[in-house]
Amino acid sequence: SDVGPQRERVVTEEEWLQKWETGNIRFHKEQGHPLFQKHLDVLLNGRSGLRIFFPLCGKAVEMKWLADMGHNVVGVEVSEQALKEFFSEHSLPYCEEPVPEISGGKMFQSTSGNISLYCCSIYDLSSSIVGKFDGVWDRGALVAVNPRDRQRYASLMINLMEKNSSYLLVTVSYDPNKHKGPPFYVPESEVKSLFG
Ligand code: SAH
Repeated sequence: SDVGPQRERVVTEEEWLQKWETGNIRFHKEQGHPLFQKHLDVLLNGRSGLRIFFPLCGKAVEMKWLADMGHNVVGVEVSEQALKEFFSEHSLPYCEEPVPEISGGKMFQSTSGNISLYCCSIYDLSSSIVGKFDGVWDRGALVAVNPRDRQRYASLMINLMEKNSSYLLVTVSYDPNKHKGPPFYVPESEVKSLFG
């Protein structure tokens, strides 16, 4: 498949912040993503008290759902506005603290302690800062990463995974000549070569 037209496209962090400021966030699903419910059992596999990672989390409501089910949720997002909206829209009290390992990085944590959202770039994270995860919900994340950064993103994600973890990935299929993205078109063959 021809992904040529999108290969050089770059969306800057500034542009993402601006989308949040202007409310240009049609990617946000107030009712959650239908595929989350459908495949949740694959993610959890009957296990409880998991650590679940939400890369490029926005204010995804699935974070609240998993926390309510007793799991520990960690997310990362460049927009502080998105994270504050997440807590306020769910009426969750939280506290804010600096992340010493990351210059300018902050962590917003629910007072209950089971939702920790890092405000920084995903590329600032490592397993020494956030630990490893039993599950990943990747919706609007791999497909939002700039095409040139995909390899780096995938290597980091693999590094953040425990041995027996599950990774749910949502991609979108369309003709990349007709839309510049994001979401970018990531063909199945590329998913395979990125994640093995
Ligand atoms: N996964 C969420 C949001 C998808 S949109 C959902 O399903 O609703 C992609 C999000 O990634 C945006 O909120 C954007 O601000 C954030 N983002 C973009 N680049 C990032 C980066 N390098 N590190 C962390 N977050 C990033």
